[in-house]
Parts: sequence; structure tokens; C-alpha cells
Amino acid sequence: MYSVALVGRPNVGKSTLFNRLTEERDAITSAVSGTTRDRRYGEVLWNGRRFRLIDTGGYLATDEDAFTAGIRVQIAAACKEATHILLVVDAQVGILHADESMADYVRRLGTSVWVVVNKADDSQDALAAGTFHALGFGAHLYAVSAANGTGTGELLDALSAEVARTPNGTTQPPWPRISIIGRPNVGKSSLLNALLGHGRSLVSEVAGTTRDALDTPMQYHKKRMIWVDTAGIRKKAKQEHAIEFYSVLRALRAMESSAVCVVVIAADEGLCAQDLHVLREAHNKKRGLVLAINKWDLVDRKTGTYESYRALLQKRLGDLAYVPMVFTSAHTKVRLSDLVAQALAVHAARQTRISTAKLNRIMAAEVMKHPPPSQKGRIMRIKYFTQVKTAAPLFVAFCNRPPQIPVHYTRFLIGRLRDHFGFVGTPIGLRYRSGDEKRN
Ligand code: GDP
Ligand code: GDP
Repeated sequence: MYSVALVGRPNVGKSTLFNRLTEERDAITSAVSGTTRDRRYGEVLWNGRRFRLIDTGGYLATDEDAFTAGIRVQIAAACKEATHILLVVDAQVGILHADESMADYVRRLGTSVWVVVNKADDSQDALAAGTFHALGFGAHLYAVSAANGTGTGELLDALSAEVARTPNGTTQPPWPRISIIGRPNVGKSSLLNALLGHGRSLVSEVAGTTRDALDTPMQYHKKRMIWVDTAGIRKKAKQEHAIEFYSVLRALRAMESSAVCVVVIAADEGLCAQDLHVLREAHNKKRGLVLAINKWDLVDRKTGTYESYRALLQKRLGDLAYVPMVFTSAHTKVRLSDLVAQALAVHAARQTRISTAKLNRIMAAEVMKHPPPSQKGRIMRIKYFTQVKTAAPLFVAFCNRPPQIPVHYTRFLIGRLRDHFGFVGTPIGLRYRSGDEKRN
């Protein structure tokens, strides 16, 4: 069900708002359907739309630690369950540092966030509510008074309209899932931490206790994505016996659940057989790929170091040399945004659909220039291409003798597809069918 979480520092009026929204005479269906120590659930029916309301405010913070712990619980709860977050602030107090840090946390979740300026009891308070635009969540800012009910109707109108826009049952947003995979100690956790700004994400620590993979939703320049952290998996697996076995198994599962895999290696160690194996596995599973060469700060860089390092890697990668490389340092925070951009570019490329007309115009010219080699004196003809699938892209070529097209020619065609249509980091499938099937 569509779930809306109330999040905010203590005393802004979350609980009061929760009561108001669920007890609103027209809105109520069931006041509190479940109560836990730190969360309350209610159901709201408004304008014929139903959604769940989660109050995350059931804690009292007296000191800094308790406050941090409280945020942790709230964010974890919101992340796990909410389709939508209402960041509640206090019109009469204005923006406090705690509001800003709260805003920073929820911004990173990638969930849709609206600001609710509570305690706007009269028109003067409502005017002051405008200052909360500074939190940076755009136009969705609602001035309400949980105490006297001002503005809550508008808020419920907007929420029910939002619920109406969302297809049933979509609690899991279709954001790109990107897994970070690699051998121990290459810097996967450090990279993820650096990507997330400061410290280990609260979300994944909590989420990881109940899930197999650690999902960390993140927003980056308005783009949303979920990082699947397999480093945490390894750490979790330490408590079990067959560490390697479990970590490999789980890394594979993380790979399967994600569209793009960022394979991390350490610059001072280079690419080993196991890394190649992981890359190959992701390639076979048709996952998008990025190779992160981390700890680049450890490499003594002279002119040409980068080029020769890159060339060496490309040679080792062989037919996987299409995988884009990003030379990062989690320590000096170098090229972290490139890494995100590259992963998102691969995700987009993986979803590319090429129109049949364009595909044939370009590929016919390629086949004309380099026709398939004749086999046992018989001429091989490729007549027609079509893309039958995206994410991952799969092409079919219609030809006269499908089984006789040599592997190297398939590689050539895939290379051409890649060059012309820019499938960066994307494994491309190419199958053959006999020409007669074209019209089937
Ligand atoms: P929470 O800690 O965020 O759940 O906040 P509470 O709901 O417990 O409210 C904190 C205090 O703010 C209580 O004393 C409420 O009575 C008061 N409060 C809540 N909403 C409003 C409001 O709209 N206007 C005013 N003036 N006070 C409010
Ligand atoms: P993981 O096991 O892959 O998650 O690796 P960690 O993130 O735990 O990092 C392993 C070690 O490498 C730690 O001591 C990090 O401080 C160090 N490390 C991680 N990234 C970098 C980096 O970019 N440069 C350097 N010099 N050290 C790094």
C-alpha cells in the first residue's frame, strides 16, 4: 500500500499531525492499526484514495546520541516502508540545524519528500512558512496546523492526488540498482561511504540486519538509484563459517538483483583472475558493467602512467574491454561523481532501443563492407537485423545459414553495434535465425 512517513526532529508536532490526519472526520478508517515502540501506523481514506500513515516520532531525545539514534530509527523505518516522506518542521521556531540534517538524510533516500510546516496556527505563521523553501525540496511545501486543522485538508488533497497517480502496489520504485562487487579490502565500503557524503549510511546498517543485500537508496543530481553494498554482506558473513562461500553466493545474488555492477579493484593490486571471473559472470548474466580502479591515490603517477595502466587492463580484459573504467580514490574523493555518472550512463545504455530502420541502415552498410566469410564454398548472407529486447539488449540477425556464422564474425558485429549505438558497458546479445522466420 502507498505509505507516507512523518519524519522530523522532536517536538515539531508529528504525533499531533498523525492524530489529526488519521482522526480527521472524513478521513478516518482505522485510527491506529499497529503500534510499536517507535512507530505508529494509521490508515487514511481521503477523496476515495487510501494510504498508510507512519508516525516515526515516538522517541524522546535528550542528548546528541539519542537524537542520532532517533534519526536512525526514523530513516530506517521510512526507507523500508514509505513511498512518500513528509518532512515536518515548526513554523514558529524556524529552521534549526536539526531540521537541516534531517533534510539531508531524507534527501538521500531518493524517496519523494514534501515539507510540512506545522504550527502555522494563524496567517502570520503561514507566511513565515515560506522560509522553509530554503530546505530545498521545491514547490511541495504545505503550511498546516495540526492543533487547529488549518491546511490539513489541502495536504490530504495533494497526498490523495499523488496516490491516484501511482499505480497500485508500487512500493518498490523502479530505480536503477547498482551493486558494488569486488574482493575484500579493495575499498568497496569506503567508496560507498564517500559516495554517500559522510559516514556509513544509516539506512543500510539497519536494513542489513533483515535483508540479504544492503540496499542504499541515493539521490544524485536529481537522479535516483539504489546501491547494493556487498561489502556489508561480507562483514555479515564473518559470523558464519564458510565466509568465502557465503560472500560469493551473496555477491552473485546482489549481482542478479541489480542492473549494473560496479566491479572494484585496487590500483596497487591490479586485476586478478578472480576479478576477471566476476566480470565474466556479470557479462554472462547480461548485467551492465563498470570497472572502478580504486586507491588510485596510491599509484605514483608520472606522465603516461594512466595511459599505460589503462592499456594494460584493456589487454587483460580481452573481449570484456568494452567495460568503462573509472580511476577513483575513496580517500581523496577523486572521480566519485564520474563513477556515479558512468554507472547511470551504463544503466541508460542498457535500456536503449534502436529503431529497426536505423539499425538496418547502419548495419547493412557494415555487412556490405565486411560480409560474413563464406563457409565451405557457400555464400553467407545476413539480410536483416532487429532488436528484440532491451535491458539487456538482444539483437537478432536473419541469415541464410545461422549455425555457420563464425564466432569472430559475431564479435565483429557486436563491436559494430557498440560503436554505432554507444552501448557503453553493456553486454549485447546477438542471435541468428534463418531468413524465412523473418515474417513469423
Ligand atoms: P513530535 O515530537 O514531533 O511528535 O511532536 P508532538 O506531536 O508531540 O508535539 C510537540 C508539541 O507541539 C506539543 O506540545 C503539541 O501540542 C505542539 N503542537 C503540535 N502541533 C501543533 C500546532 O499545529 N500548533 C501549535 N501551536 N502547537 C502544536
Ligand atoms: P572493502 O572490504 O572492499 O569494503 O574495503 P574497505 O572499504 O573496508 O577498505 C579496505 C582498506 O582500504 C581500508 O583500510 C581503507 O581505508 C583502504 N582504502 C579504501 N579506499 C581507499 C583509497 O581510495 N585509497 C587508499 N589509499 N586506501 C583506501
